[in-house]
Amino acid sequence: MNPQAPLHPETRDDLRQETTHTRVYSLSMTTRLLPRITLITALLIPALMPHEAQAWGQPHLAITKAALDTLPSWQKDLLGPEFKDLSAKHCLIPDNVYTDKENAKYAAMESSPGEVYLQKLHLPQAEQTVNRESLRYFMEKAVTSFKAGKVNEAARYMGTICHVLEDFGSPSHTIPGDNQFTLLQQFMPSTTVMEGKLLHGPIENGDFTVSIEGYQPRLLGTSIEEASWRLLHRVHEGIINARSTTLPIIQALYAGDDQAKLTQQLKAATKDAQIVADAMHTILCLGADKFDAEARKACDRASISTFWPIEAVHLYYPQSHFFSSPYWGHACSDAVMEGGAKKLPIKLRVADAEEKTFTEGIGTGMGKALTFHLPKSVYKRFIVLAGLQSGIGAKGRVEFTLLGDGKPLGSAIVNGGDPAHAFECDVSTVSLLQLNAVNRGLDPKSNYAVWAEPVLRK
Ligand SMILES: [Zn+2]
Repeated sequence: MNPQAPLHPETRDDLRQETTHTRVYSLSMTTRLLPRITLITALLIPALMPHEAQAWGQPHLAITKAALDTLPSWQKDLLGPEFKDLSAKHCLIPDNVYTDKENAKYAAMESSPGEVYLQKLHLPQAEQTVNRESLRYFMEKAVTSFKAGKVNEAARYMGTICHVLEDFGSPSHTIPGDNQFTLLQQFMPSTTVMEGKLLHGPIENGDFTVSIEGYQPRLLGTSIEEASWRLLHRVHEGIINARSTTLPIIQALYAGDDQAKLTQQLKAATKDAQIVADAMHTILCLGADKFDAEARKACDRASISTFWPIEAVHLYYPQSHFFSSPYWGHACSDAVMEGGAKKLPIKLRVADAEEKTFTEGIGTGMGKALTFHLPKSVYKRFIVLAGLQSGIGAKGRVEFTLLGDGKPLGSAIVNGGDPAHAFECDVSTVSLLQLNAVNRGLDPKSNYAVWAEPVLRK
């Protein structure tokens, strides 16, 4: 969970930061470091890391171990001796690229030649495509290595993926562009011992174990293209979950409440472990070309109702996405916000004039496009019902349009009293799917547009 690249790793300060900050090196790692640092600094190390020397508390190791423990035995056997090393050291490879030169190549990307420390493997980037490519690249490397019988290499690439997933889901990596929380501290100043301190390390450091015993890892896809796409959306859940822990952790730090801090850290770590378990399970299924029939079948359908569109850069809607109606054009997952104040379940009139409530869907305002990346050649059809929310949308009139890579896939004008329009489009060659809803009536305040059950099918 390294907050920034150690730009000058030869200097004593950076080495001290490495040891005091987020990391607990295994004994062998500390030993390897010793020749590179001065005797004085070496003597300081034990004093600087009094409790962190208990390696079980190191978050990466603890989260990876919890994830791997849930894998079926055939997958543990497939990893062999690497099973232990994956949670004991491989998951730290991207943080140790300057010191562990032998393994640095397992955290390098051909698309970033000459870059040893890749910040994008530690901090989520604004562009979904960049984050997805990081996941896809290392997933492919791991699967290809497995297929070539190189389990030791596969495990190292898997370690890099663990690290990325864990860093993205860390409470310290949640605020875009402010991973030391200097801006946040202007909003939330401390009057305690934390005043003026950089908060990255204090927020995520700790000694804890994680357990997700009983968790069933999910298959994320039957191809690398599909699995990396679904993994990205799982990671988004991890980022949002981690964000919900950041402020409570800072409040706990200010109050000196270790227990409250730990509770929140475990909330983030538990979700991260589940996501890492899904990723590791899927890579091993792909590597062995072995899939559970039911899990494979479940992959035939993907609902995008809770997915973040690319307009929500960094997973929040920027200012440019507002100034519309109703409710400023704000899109909501699985709900409609009446007047921006009351959350309603999605309800539409369907073809036979019946009203139906939907648990999956997107409520949205006018003229604010929602665009989603699709994996290449994975899904054949996109199916969705478009209409106006029953009751509050009765006086509205909206044109719904679907675009695939900028070209129309379908369009329909729906009045408030009409049954919802059923779209079914061919998306087999589409990489960007866009959902548009535009005012075509006299009462834009009633245009509570809904995309119900937006589903991709193979
Ligand atoms: Zn890191």
